[in-house]
Amino acid sequence: MHHAAPDTAGPVPHRAVSKLQALVRLPTVSHRDPALVDVAAFDALLGELERQFPLLHQRLELTRVGSHGLLFRWAGADDARPVVLMAHLDVVPVEGTWTHPAFDGVIADGQLWGRGTLDDKGCVVGICEAVETLLERDFTPAQDLWLSFGCDEEVMGSTAQEAVRVLTERGVHPWFVVDEGGAVASGAFPGVTTPVAVVGVTEKGVTSVELRAEGRGGHASTPARMGPTARIARAIMRLERTPFAPSLPAPTVELLRRLAPHAPRALRPVMAHGSRIAPVLTRALVAAGPESAAMTRTTAAVTTLSGSPALNVIAAQARAGVNVRTMVGDTVAGVLSHLRRAVDDEHVHIDVIESGEPSPISPFLDDPAFALLEATIAEVFPEAVASPYVMMAATDSRHFTEICERVYRFAPFRMSKAQRESIHSFDERIGLDDLVDGVRWYTTLIERIR
Ligand SMILES: [Zn+2]
Repeated sequence: MHHAAPDTAGPVPHRAVSKLQALVRLPTVSHRDPALVDVAAFDALLGELERQFPLLHQRLELTRVGSHGLLFRWAGADDARPVVLMAHLDVVPVEGTWTHPAFDGVIADGQLWGRGTLDDKGCVVGICEAVETLLERDFTPAQDLWLSFGCDEEVMGSTAQEAVRVLTERGVHPWFVVDEGGAVASGAFPGVTTPVAVVGVTEKGVTSVELRAEGRGGHASTPARMGPTARIARAIMRLERTPFAPSLPAPTVELLRRLAPHAPRALRPVMAHGSRIAPVLTRALVAAGPESAAMTRTTAAVTTLSGSPALNVIAAQARAGVNVRTMVGDTVAGVLSHLRRAVDDEHVHIDVIESGEPSPISPFLDDPAFALLEATIAEVFPEAVASPYVMMAATDSRHFTEICERVYRFAPFRMSKAQRESIHSFDERIGLDDLVDGVRWYTTLIERIR
């Protein structure tokens, strides 16, 4: 802290900071292969949560879900319109070179550094600290409140689906769900300096396929033309040259409309009337860079490649993994036919590894639940413009669309462009004040539920 005298320890940080610090120090990395999971770390995390949030654990009803997932019910004055707050306990592995080690929980420059500070232990602490504080004040929520914490979000696991199953069995039809996703983002749009509190109202679907070409293999000294590796290379280049058709879904139109007054003067008319001049606007977004282009269409990224295992052996089989993010409005079937048309080679097989449709669009205009989120954002982040948007990444909350028509993705933390880029990368960190404001956002939200 700049204002602390050198011979003092500085101001005592909010207790939420030391709680998040302790959680970050437990490396709860999830893996697709359960044998690789550090079970002890997850056990320790649950123990740590119990120590940190004693009232929450005493007074809320807990259902264990999956290996380490938690589903709490806080009985409200009424149960007609239950609300679900979500977060996840697992993190992705460490990537890249960190300024401060990923699992040390170092506090420096007014920030807490470490894997999971933003994604998503910050939300875990935000929600739990809000509940704990309200319990200390003997507060009773107006409606039943459910807290759903998954332990395998990062590997597209099944804990959230099990939580949905439990809620279904108990006849719970949530009024709305809030999960990670959007943030109070600064520097997200060229020319817009006002922070934007983006609330995801839909998310793209995730489909992964493998392109596969087979051949005779053989010795590398006698290569034939158009072997498996060449076919796969050609297929990749064809995919690259054949992007999906862009479109402008309703949440994006609304986002641009709300940002228009804060954009450079020349862009305002275009942004304010997006629905009328959609083709012009979509072309502009596609041209503006990969992030804005991804807002307008389904994307396909070639991620994995494999051929021969030896330098002097011709591949008998070559494969390329393609990760597809399907835009709301497109379908998995449409994606697969686009891929087949683009690759245009009957010797390249397309194996579907996993598939998921985009989520339905949650209401955001004249909707009391969305209005509640907007009002809470306005109170805690008065400097920001709140808006719906289409989320690019997948969250656990997509499973909740089966039982709830209002699924909103928003983490109530200020995030700079660098911070957003640190998620799933290196130097992930949260501002100490931002964590405290996040706690305040969840607290205010719970208090405002009627
Ligand atoms: Zn996450």
